Amino acid sequence: MDNIRHLKPAGKAIFEDRHTKKAKELLTEWSEGAKGEFGLVGLPLSKPSISHSGASLAPGAIRSSLQSYSTYSNEEGFDLTAPILDFGDLNMSPTDVLGNQERLYEGMSDIYQTKASTNWFILGGDHSISYSSIKAYAEHYSSFGVIQFDAHHDLRNTEDGGPTNGTPFRRLLEDDILKGENLVQIGIRDFTNAKAYDDYAKEQGVTVYTMGDVNEQSLTSILNKEVQNLAEKVDHIYISLDMDVLDQAFAPGCPAIGPGGMDSTSLLEGIHFMARHEKVNALDIVEIDPTIDFRNMTSRVAAYTMLQFMKGKK
Ligand code: CA
Repeated sequence: MDNIRHLKPAGKAIFEDRHTKKAKELLTEWSEGAKGEFGLVGLPLSKPSISHSGASLAPGAIRSSLQSYSTYSNEEGFDLTAPILDFGDLNMSPTDVLGNQERLYEGMSDIYQTKASTNWFILGGDHSISYSSIKAYAEHYSSFGVIQFDAHHDLRNTEDGGPTNGTPFRRLLEDDILKGENLVQIGIRDFTNAKAYDDYAKEQGVTVYTMGDVNEQSLTSILNKEVQNLAEKVDHIYISLDMDVLDQAFAPGCPAIGPGGMDSTSLLEGIHFMARHEKVNALDIVEIDPTIDFRNMTSRVAAYTMLQFMKGKK
């Protein structure tokens, strides 16, 4: 090959700048015994989704989107340098939907057991994966709370369709894995939920902020209060980020898009703010369907939230 001039090996970047490091280069395949600050796992399951969803393809799309960014923060004046230990994706059966939810739990349980990382990125998948992920998380970080960004409560009954992507938090509460008082839902939208689930959230002592609350109080002031509240009660905080919390203008790749949602700048600032707290140690990102996304816009927001999280930890 050396005797052919101007040839670029397949798969290499189109352009390389000697001073620019791409965020994707931080991804490092995890090997037995490796330990670090950040771990990443893909949970590629979207068949429990109520609506059609290709969110099982999101872990790959989000990893690829890291290529869109450099590692340098202009705001802070430093580069992100810590590797992201990439465990790969958990294997899914093409036909066994309920079995897959169990596999996700088992796989995540084994991964947390490695204690390989201080902080975890969990890439869905639809929102049903959060049940399995948080169930496993609860066994390793027993005193914990969850901050959920979502247009929906995800507190639907399971009688009507089983453990879909509309039920993860209902199941976590009913199975006594998570206490209502340790769940904070932010970004809940009008005309997107049923009264029964609003009532259920109140009965269970869940703290709920609607988009109206977010617009009135600002996301940072809400997080300032709620992260402190949780931190007084629990030892660990898990963030569950359903990308449909964003307005449809910012997240075209979500199956359940709608107007009146959060803007991406607020979300990115919010993730950075939360990550600065030492008790915040996990971020799941769900409900991105790359097959309906536009120019990978939604996956790019996801990749950016990961970098904001890492910036907050530096
Ligand atoms: Ca959701």
